[in-house]
Amino acid sequence: MEDCVFCKIVKGEIPSDKVYEDKEVLVFRDINPQAPVHFLLIPKKHMNSVADMTEDDLSLMGHMINTANRMAVAAGIAGKGFRLVTNVGTEGGQGVLHLHWHILGGRQLSGELG
Ligand code: 5GP
Ligand code: ZN
Repeated sequence: MEDCVFCKIVKGEIPSDKVYEDKEVLVFRDINPQAPVHFLLIPKKHMNSVADMTEDDLSLMGHMINTANRMAVAAGIAGKGFRLVTNVGTEGGQGVLHLHWHILGGRQLSGELG
């Protein structure tokens, strides 16, 4: 989508600190990290949130969760535990309307987003 900041990151129009990329997904560091490890994992195709998913997205969703898990292992946070969260809509606290999973770890998390 034209005015979507994460679509611009996918297209390289806005720089990002990339961690992983394949043909379907991109992982990059959150610009305002809430934990020692704070990655954002996004589908390259625009979807507002998981509320937009259809039956056609089942394999993409599985791929994203599997990728999140692999990123946590690679970042060294899988052993002690981490948080994988996606906000949906206004009351869900979603600021950027392009589906993204937060991968958070490296400290004890609690409450809301910790
Ligand atoms: P939300 O509140 O929508 O779940 O989370 C959006 C996240 O995107 C926030 O944690 C925010 O710091 C991050 N963010 C917003 N704009 C940018 C950007 O241009 N680059 C990066 N790397 N992260 C961003
Ligand atoms: Zn987008």
